Amino acid sequence: MDLMAVATGVQRTQLFIDGRFVDAAGGETFEDRAPATSELLAHVASGGARDVDRAVAAARRAFDGGPWPRMPAAQRAKVLRRLGALLLENADALAKLEARDAGKPFKETAHRDVPRAADNCAFFASAIEQRAQQVTFDRKPFLGSEREIVSLVREEPVGVCALLTPWNSPLMQATWKIAPALAAGNTCVLKPSELTPLSTLKLAELCSAAGVPDGVVNVVTGFGADAGAPLVADARVDAVAFTGSVAVGTAINVAAAQTLKKVTLELGGKSANIVFDDADLELALEGSVLAMFRHSGQVCLAGTRLFVQAGIYETFVERYLERVRALRVGDPESPESDLGPLISAPHRARVEGFIERALAEGATALLHGGRPAHAELANGHYLEPSIFAPPSDEIAVAREEIFGPVLSLFQFETLDEVVARANDTRFGLSAYVWTRDVGTGMRAAERLHSGMVWINGYFIRDLRQPFGGVKESGLGREGGRWSLDFFTEPKLVCIAY
Ligand code: NAD
Repeated sequence: MDLMAVATGVQRTQLFIDGRFVDAAGGETFEDRAPATSELLAHVASGGARDVDRAVAAARRAFDGGPWPRMPAAQRAKVLRRLGALLLENADALAKLEARDAGKPFKETAHRDVPRAADNCAFFASAIEQRAQQVTFDRKPFLGSEREIVSLVREEPVGVCALLTPWNSPLMQATWKIAPALAAGNTCVLKPSELTPLSTLKLAELCSAAGVPDGVVNVVTGFGADAGAPLVADARVDAVAFTGSVAVGTAINVAAAQTLKKVTLELGGKSANIVFDDADLELALEGSVLAMFRHSGQVCLAGTRLFVQAGIYETFVERYLERVRALRVGDPESPESDLGPLISAPHRARVEGFIERALAEGATALLHGGRPAHAELANGHYLEPSIFAPPSDEIAVAREEIFGPVLSLFQFETLDEVVARANDTRFGLSAYVWTRDVGTGMRAAERLHSGMVWINGYFIRDLRQPFGGVKESGLGREGGRWSLDFFTEPKLVCIAY
């Protein structure tokens, strides 16, 4: 199957099990359509419980008897580096495929997502090679005499890992999970979103080309209830790494608890973006627009609640609106576009529902975005940016994760006030603070209840650092050593002599 050829014709994709592309057991397929045009891209194999069974069995065999978990870390690292290099060799085609399938602007898929996917592989190759091993020396009494003790911690792979990903950055998310899982010696079954399966299938093909043995990486495409749920429930699966919505993450946590699997959950957010009077205005404006409208707000980290201090409120809002009005909504494959379409028609309808509800609940529309008028965008799920000043922090537009280009804008007076309002949410993924005063920034960072805080920046993150949220934004952390902690089991071996 030539996935890179989606530009030239409709593809029929298969599942990837035990190193081979195969049809779903039931032979069913579903349609994958381009969010920008509604055009049919592929008939995708619709995996179900029987396919999950085959994929988990393959991953189990590859884990229990195959070479991958037993290989020296340095050899696995070589394979991962080759995979990173293959991603870069195919960068342009992958970025186009991703822009087409996910509706994400090409300038982001080409300059961020694909390079980051390659970086994930290279980073975890080095991280596993350099991971410190723990040894302690001691002396303890045992059966009547003093013994020398050497204790060492053997880090072993966890086993078969279920990796479930959402649709907003499919390739980046898939590599974000498989790179550390593979580096540590695990085998896996990936379940990409039914809305954007294509780049993950290509990734599976590249894994084989890089030298990943058969059965180590398996991909079951399909719907959450049909393919995701049996995968999470399967007793042969040892760990689940999930990125997606709070509702599904919660259900996964409950299901995984039945067999006490390790679970990590990266979920949604309603992140606060706080601009103090003393902020570098240009930086805060540029950063706040990016933090909110990148990928049309379809980003878990989106700074969807913008708090501006009273002293600069009017100037800031005027200039912010100017910049947002200048954002270009259009074909994601064009380098000119800042905002592509939303992922699907039902998702756009849901976002529009929040806009209507905001108006009904008394929010002032400073910018009321609708569907763009251009005829050439009529078949895509496009939506222009909206900015609301809600009458209170309590209404839906100010509280719910909308996952679209809809901002809530508030005015505040003091640090104490804004911290309390920013923390008044069930989410806790990230927060942004713009100020020239290091003390203000650090005091806010200390008190904001979220997994990540950026001062004078948005999502500047090194791969060594932890990523994840508190409260309903998630469970556990990924990134750097935190990913390797998750994908390994420490085993104590103690030698007395
Ligand atoms: P989703 O929860 O609907 O789906 C995520 C994945 O889970 C998909 O592969 C889906 O098929 C699968 N799934 C659905 N139901 C399932 C079930 N019952 N059992 C097992 N798997 C099931 O999320 P989405 O709509 O694809 O993505 C958007 C959400 O993802 C937003 O809430 C966003 O905030 C979140 N997200 C979080 C992060 C993060 O790192 N915190 C990053 C990106 C997206």
